[in-house]
Amino acid sequence: MKTMIKKFLHGIVGSIGWRIAKLGDKKLIILMYHRILPSSDERYRFEEPGMVVSYESFRMHMQVITDEGIPVVTPEAWLEKNENERPPVAIAITFDDGWLDNYQYAFPVLKEFGFVSTLFVVTDYLGCPAPFWPNRVLRLLLDKNSVISEEWHDLVNMMPSKPVLPMSRDEAAHVIASLKHYSDDDIYRALNKIPSSISGQIEMISADQLLEAKATMGVEVGCHTRRHYRLLEGLEESLLQEEIVESKEILKSIISEDPTTFCFPNGDYSSRALKMVRENYVAAVTTARGHNISGNVDKHQLVRIGVHNDISDTPLKFKARLSTFM
Ligand SMILES: [Zn+2]
Repeated sequence: MKTMIKKFLHGIVGSIGWRIAKLGDKKLIILMYHRILPSSDERYRFEEPGMVVSYESFRMHMQVITDEGIPVVTPEAWLEKNENERPPVAIAITFDDGWLDNYQYAFPVLKEFGFVSTLFVVTDYLGCPAPFWPNRVLRLLLDKNSVISEEWHDLVNMMPSKPVLPMSRDEAAHVIASLKHYSDDDIYRALNKIPSSISGQIEMISADQLLEAKATMGVEVGCHTRRHYRLLEGLEESLLQEEIVESKEILKSIISEDPTTFCFPNGDYSSRALKMVRENYVAAVTTARGHNISGNVDKHQLVRIGVHNDISDTPLKFKARLSTFM
């Protein structure tokens, strides 16, 4: 019954809501993707549900955008245009973190459709195994062979209760959400005591692949800090400098031009971080949900629409998501 009501709602919002969303003020819809993987890929299973879109759904999204006749632009290109030059609705496609799977699966599809995109990379992690603590925690909690040993002590202390392993992806996602109360440094310190939390498989795009994507796949490169630290109130000034300014220099040395757009990790930022980003970048994206309405945009706090598979695996669900009503 619940599924039927949901289906009905998606139908209404996906058709009427999307039609309403296309009317009114001129707007830029910025899509936020993380990972694109075939649902049969082993990496899909070891990712939080909110972080991944299947290859099949991603292709379908691009087809919907094509069928709707919505122009695809980069956020910067849209911002550069005058009000009267902007189309009624434009879409920008962004990817956070710099996952290798974007290069393997998403960029070839975008090339086929002739769409530009922006990839926000974490500079210290180019060409690395999955480095982010949520992935490392997830692997530990989902792995059938994981055993809670002495080495787990500090990490388990941060969890709401002692985990029963292996967990489901949804249960593990809850634990990850609760760990966000702690600082990134504290979590990494606890995790580094558990050697099996590090997988050997390369999961992030390399510098060479980044250059190739930029040169041949219509991919703009933006900055997503050096180590993906959340830029929260209280973060030391030296760390803010490293994450916002040094990352820009590192990226510049790789792509031989100034990266002009920035992406806030986890959508978190203090007023000090925002000021530093304003001083160093032309534009920045957040994780706040919404449409960017022409004439009423803060270039350094652009809003986006997060897309993951559960809420976008049919054309109607995807359009409902685009409309921001669901
Ligand atoms: Zn990120």
